[in-house]
Amino acid sequence: MPLIMLDAGHTKNTFEQGGGKGVRKGGRNYEEHNFNINVAKHTKRYLEASGLDARITKQSFASSENLNNRTDEANRIGADLLVSIHANAGASAAKGACVFHWPTSPKFANMWVDKWKAENTGVGLHGNGKHEVRLGTWTNLHMVREAAMPAYLIEHGFMTNDHDFDYIFGGKSAEYRRDCARAIAKAVCDYFNVKFVDYEDNVPKKQSNPKPSNKDVYTVRKGDTLWEIAKDHKMSVRRLKRLNNLKGNIIHPGDKLRVAGKAKPKKKRAPRLPKGILKRGDRGNKVRRLQKALCEVYFYPNKGAKNNGVDGIFGRNTEDAVRRFQSVYTPHMIDGIYGKRTRRALKKKL
Ligand SMILES: [Zn+2]
Repeated sequence: MPLIMLDAGHTKNTFEQGGGKGVRKGGRNYEEHNFNINVAKHTKRYLEASGLDARITKQSFASSENLNNRTDEANRIGADLLVSIHANAGASAAKGACVFHWPTSPKFANMWVDKWKAENTGVGLHGNGKHEVRLGTWTNLHMVREAAMPAYLIEHGFMTNDHDFDYIFGGKSAEYRRDCARAIAKAVCDYFNVKFVDYEDNVPKKQSNPKPSNKDVYTVRKGDTLWEIAKDHKMSVRRLKRLNNLKGNIIHPGDKLRVAGKAKPKKKRAPRLPKGILKRGDRGNKVRRLQKALCEVYFYPNKGAKNNGVDGIFGRNTEDAVRRFQSVYTPHMIDGIYGKRTRRALKKKL
């Protein structure tokens, strides 16, 4: 599985008064690193929800950065792609976001520019959004040059521009930082040919379960029959029984019966989880049971398709659903294969 190294530019201690790595505005310091690390964390969550492995470079918190540590770390863990996350500083008129890339590897840069435009963040592009790294100029950036894998450095607008500042640090920053992360994650997904999954889509919605009020409850008196109670409350015996989960027709004085409201949906039995190992290429009832279980926890093999993709065939979609589940609940083992550990994690969630 692809491993993505996210580098949150600079550290808390690299802020320079009046020059780079942050800005001072209205008597306050705004550190670039705070923005960078926030975007990196959001990006990591999006990538993991999409079934990819992502790490954030270690922060040294030294006041002078040793960038070698960061590229060494990415090279050592064998990352497949490196994205260094920044915000720019310059003349107050300069604005917009852009990506720096090695001249011979523009692929991810092109994808990011497309995603940036589609995301419609409110911060435009600086020029056409792409800059090549050139040796012998200031664009000769360490993170792009010294990484063994394709590496990109993205400047998410100019902190020194009033319009961009509002997005990076001001009132629009909460939304903007997610937008930045989404653009990166979507481009990464494109790059590795993986379906982008918004981590917020997998959060189950809370169900409200109102308690019946007093007038919705009837206390059975001696001599009452179900038929009479149903008639008095203008409903069928069947509905009355359903409301109260009654199997037979026997009631006793003092029983409290619901006589209004909606019947509680029958508690669905959690699907029985198959034992053994299931992987791409497998078929049959075990696969179907696994797919049903994945749907129960909102990791649909193919959301919106017939039966949400429950078809008894362990293909690309089911593998993808297993991966997405693993990336959230067994993040140390994301292989798209259903085995003991995935079974245990899934059982807990059902
Ligand atoms: Zn920076």
